[in-house]
Amino acid sequence: PPVYKQRYSRVAAILDSENVKSVIDFGCAECKFIQHLKQCNIEVVSGVDIDKSLLERSKYSLKPLITDYIIRRKDPLVMRTYQGSVIDYDARCIGYEAITMIEIIEHLESDVLNKVPQNVFGTLHPRIVIVTTPNSDFNVLFPDLEGFRHWDHKFEWSRDEFRNWCEEIIAIYPYMVRYEGIGSGPEGTDHLGSCSQMAIFTHLEDPSAVDQSQPLYLNMLKTQSVVSSS
Ligand code: SAM
Repeated sequence: PPVYKQRYSRVAAILDSENVKSVIDFGCAECKFIQHLKQCNIEVVSGVDIDKSLLERSKYSLKPLITDYIIRRKDPLVMRTYQGSVIDYDARCIGYEAITMIEIIEHLESDVLNKVPQNVFGTLHPRIVIVTTPNSDFNVLFPDLEGFRHWDHKFEWSRDEFRNWCEEIIAIYPYMVRYEGIGSGPEGTDHLGSCSQMAIFTHLEDPSAVDQSQPLYLNMLKTQSVVSSS
């Protein structure tokens, strides 16, 4: 399958294996990943994108299909889309178990990118955060590539650069991180890694200790106390 499908499958498989029931997908674009989640055990999924007209055009694709009435899910699924930015506080995004950011960070200018950790890991602090982005170590396998893989990319990171960004996050917020590659290259190119790279962040506290039904400021205080004690 194409790499984007491999990405959706792998991210969805991790969410299922972590028994995640609610997820926010930042930078959801045409809502393709949200549609993919129909096959999973997720019960609430919200897509957030800054591009309102894109969401307007894509929202119809989330309507149930005839086949959805024939082959029914075990549990209902609620799908929503919101217009917004990954760096802005929005009360509608509080309380989800997971956040996914699939191929969005490389579209952000550095001043925006720098504010992502505060909102995602500080304010929203879900149990799981999954981030994917191109692996620039792999770009030598695209002989015709000039510059970046997409005109709107602001950067493409090597595996080391991505890891540095992730390590800076876990130095501040109470998470651990592990990495995976998505989309392997031809034989003999293992040293370049995969086409996409993925970081899976897991909150260090017992999830039940972070009471997401509490008013936001209480959760923020808890997070701050964890930060200052480390
Ligand atoms: N996640 C999508 C997928 O895998 O099918 C692809 C994402 S697309 C390459 C990048 C998206 O990020 C675009 O739809 C763009 O509008 C959105 N975006 C850019 N800046 C954003 C921001 N600050 N907050 C939320 N979304 C943003």
